Amino acid sequence: MAAPFTLPALPWADNALDPVISANTMSFHHGKHHKAYVDNLNKLVEGTPMADQSLEAIIQASAGDASKAGLFNNSAQIWNHTFFWHSMAPNAGGKPTGKVAELIDRDLGGYDKFKEEFAKAAMGRFGSGWAWLSLKDGKLVISSTPNAETPLTAGATPLLTIDVWEHAYYLDHQNRRADFVNAVIDKLLNWNFASENLAKG
Ligand code: MN
Repeated sequence: MAAPFTLPALPWADNALDPVISANTMSFHHGKHHKAYVDNLNKLVEGTPMADQSLEAIIQASAGDASKAGLFNNSAQIWNHTFFWHSMAPNAGGKPTGKVAELIDRDLGGYDKFKEEFAKAAMGRFGSGWAWLSLKDGKLVISSTPNAETPLTAGATPLLTIDVWEHAYYLDHQNRRADFVNAVIDKLLNWNFASENLAKG
């Protein structure tokens, strides 16, 4: 049987986010790390009913179940990474407009406060994890999750994320996570993608 999950193509060229994220980082982050999660999940679901399920269904069914940690970690990391690539675009970042901007003003105290709190969530995540902007119960919320955890399992609709695992920034910024996070926020955050996700939530 063919492996049910495939590594999604990047939405931009591998050097499009340079110098914040180099083609070298992308070759490892997408070509090795993201791919490994796909390969691992395909092995785990082979010959089981999960081979016919969606990624989201596997994430929800395995969340919080220690006996399914491998399924959860690999399925959630596939989803999180695909979502992260779309959360960024070349020549993006800075202040959003439209409905997202209105909600940032209403729920988060404006763009400057959003930027401060989003960076704080990314910097405050000890070890590996993710910073998120999500819609939860009709309101925008900023959070961070450890390891492979995702707001999806808490009933939230993610709008944007930043990967703060060391593999996301170490080749380009070494230990300087703040340089990476601030550059992603200022230069790469894809507010068009956030708007599309908001419309779905
Ligand atoms: Mn990663």
